[in-house]
Amino acid sequence: MRKIQLYNSLSNSIEDFKPIDPENVRMYACGPTVYASPHIGNARPIVVFDVLFRVLKKIHDGKVTFVRNITDIDDKINKKARELEISIRELTNEVIAEFHSNISKLNVCPVTREPRATDHISDMLDIIQKLIDNGYAYEAEGHVLFRVKKLANYGMLSKRNIDEMIAGSRVEVAPYKEDPMDFVLWKPSEEGVPAWESKYSAGRPGWHIECSAMSSKYLGKQFDIHCGGQDLMFPHHENEIAQNYGAFGCLMANYWLHNGMLLIDGQKMSKSLGNIISLDDVLKRYDGEIIRYVLLSSHYQKTLNWTEQAVHQAKQALNCLYGALKKADCEVLIQQNKQDSDESIRQNHGDGESVVLDALCTNLNTPLALTALHEIADKIYKTEDRAEIRTLCAVLKQEADFLGLLNKNPDAWFKQNGADTATVSDDEIEKMISERAEAKSRKDFKTADEIRQKLLDMHIQIEDTKSGTTWRIVSD
Ligand SMILES: [Zn+2]
Repeated sequence: MRKIQLYNSLSNSIEDFKPIDPENVRMYACGPTVYASPHIGNARPIVVFDVLFRVLKKIHDGKVTFVRNITDIDDKINKKARELEISIRELTNEVIAEFHSNISKLNVCPVTREPRATDHISDMLDIIQKLIDNGYAYEAEGHVLFRVKKLANYGMLSKRNIDEMIAGSRVEVAPYKEDPMDFVLWKPSEEGVPAWESKYSAGRPGWHIECSAMSSKYLGKQFDIHCGGQDLMFPHHENEIAQNYGAFGCLMANYWLHNGMLLIDGQKMSKSLGNIISLDDVLKRYDGEIIRYVLLSSHYQKTLNWTEQAVHQAKQALNCLYGALKKADCEVLIQQNKQDSDESIRQNHGDGESVVLDALCTNLNTPLALTALHEIADKIYKTEDRAEIRTLCAVLKQEADFLGLLNKNPDAWFKQNGADTATVSDDEIEKMISERAEAKSRKDFKTADEIRQKLLDMHIQIEDTKSGTTWRIVSD
């Protein structure tokens, strides 16, 4: 079996991935808080960990359980629902529908389970009770708080000292707290805010407890991989770890993966700067695959700078890859010759050999995986051997699938995304090529060159070969 190496934030190092049960690899990701349209920064972990899910499924024969929760209890949700004068369920249902529709455009595979916090209040209350029974939590004025100082290894993930933690978590000093560091597991709801009955108060759970409840319910008390954004490492993930130690006495997950932040033109996305880009808006302007490509173009641990230029480059890169597929009318050929080409992939490419998978197994190196795709495309552009083109196209499709790319029909792709080529059809290109051939035959080289340049202006490069003139889409 191929080895997977992943950077583990717990050890601050790259480790070989060893699942607890290879027959059921279990991963969890902290999902969206559904109060408003997801923004482009929210899409990054969704896409990055979708690639991890694909890789794990490939290597473990599909035996992977991926749980990504939905946070549908939150002060922001309460506020927004009140403004809109609708129930929180109405609001969150709407936002969840938009979230699903948007991420499916990014070609994100459905996760195994997507539990909602509001459906798991009793599971949370069970863990809260366990924490109280084990001495890790206490009741105070309708609240239940986690007793942070009781846990010797608190801070093991973020590796901060107490002062840094106090600064980082903006701790609330409240008279009912034993210690300012203690965090909320349950709190009473004020008038007009949704509340659930409990023996402590009519209230609602804190945020951190929902992930401990939903992950332990569907993945067990200890599972393999926990993913999320870097900004969640402290306090959210630290508190999840603390809750699982307190309630179950074990480490919640063995591998902790954190994606880097996304900047917009070098700046942090914020309401005050007015630079928040919603996923919905950007999907109105660009094909989801282009957005997916941008999100995978940087290594997931690094900061990603979102710029118009990066989007443009991703579009050109995809045009180049789809152009390679188009050269073989790959879609048709693959369907017609599925068995035939599977056989020739084995012969020419080696069974199980995959440059892209190798790159992804090396700490999810998506930039390297994308480079590998372009190397295959280059080979396609350079050959005129139909059988070779057919094999390479099948390889390209197969490899791109690990990244969730190139799943469209090339013609459909160019119809939608052909940049300036969108205005010109294949027939028109062929017509211009034959006009150029005619011009050349009557030695009118000026006209022939003009036609070549005109095509190039539309990102179409022609090449004269022994068997005639071919054309392909090129990036600028
Ligand atoms: Zn979480």
